[in-house]
Amino acid sequence: MDKNLNNVHEESSGNDIDLFTNYFDDDNNDNYADNGGRNSRGNGAKRPTGKVRIRWSAVAMLALIIILFVLLIVLIMIFKDEITKEVHKNDSSEQDVPAVVTTAPPVTTSETTTTTTTESSEVEPTSPFPVETDITVIDGVTYINGILIVNKTYSVPESFDPGVDPVAEAKLLEMYDAAADDGLTLWTASGYRTYDYQRELYEAYAATDGYDAADTYSARPGHSEHETGLTFDVNDPTSAFDDTPEAQWLKEHCAEYGFIIRYPKGKEDITGFMYESWHVRYVGEEIAKVIMENDICLEEYFGITSEYPD
Ligand SMILES: [Zn+2]
Repeated sequence: MDKNLNNVHEESSGNDIDLFTNYFDDDNNDNYADNGGRNSRGNGAKRPTGKVRIRWSAVAMLALIIILFVLLIVLIMIFKDEITKEVHKNDSSEQDVPAVVTTAPPVTTSETTTTTTTESSEVEPTSPFPVETDITVIDGVTYINGILIVNKTYSVPESFDPGVDPVAEAKLLEMYDAAADDGLTLWTASGYRTYDYQRELYEAYAATDGYDAADTYSARPGHSEHETGLTFDVNDPTSAFDDTPEAQWLKEHCAEYGFIIRYPKGKEDITGFMYESWHVRYVGEEIAKVIMENDICLEEYFGITSEYPD
């Protein structure tokens, strides 16, 4: 009975088996050498039967490996999207929770936390550079990965009065020197502002143009980057500066000194402010280069919003 079945196999699919024979010949020959002396040496009829059985199991094994391999690839393809989504979800949920909340006025802290939680989902798709973010709020001031954040969503309290940042100022002067070497003159039209001074400025603009218009170009007190001591308006803080060689030089070289053009052209809806070719913000060389080389804004880099709560 066995013998007959094997013969049938051999006849019906002998060609197919031969295709694989070469791969397994060595093994088969070894088997014959080991067992042949006792069982089948010299027995021409039995040899092919045993050979076929071994080949068949080898073919089946190979087929199984191929099927498993294909199955694995299919599974990877299916779950790849899911995994990516999960990772992205985790990223944003990390942003939701400030890592450290030290003693701050309770009102400011809860306000900041609520804003972040409600708005992070809207912002998620606008960030082409999802960086790991670590949000820290110290005395009502928000830092993301150590970078002080001030925009329409994030503010500094009235008590925050750091003065001009010495590192930022030193880098600014270094940048001015480099511009001078290239035959261009850069100077500071506006640097550090106190909360009170920003309030005066904003109220004056609002009195002239109305609050809605003022909100597009002047920050409400507590929401101006000039209150951080890390921001400077270079030369002429009007659109007349836009197409000057100085503005072009500034855009091209500011990242080398750790500065970014904080409110770039075309990003008005994300930064919440009109294009300001003259307004530079110190963030350090590493982040500045990523932002300037990729034509993104600080909000996109960190995946955050810039919208007044009301
Ligand atoms: Zn400015």
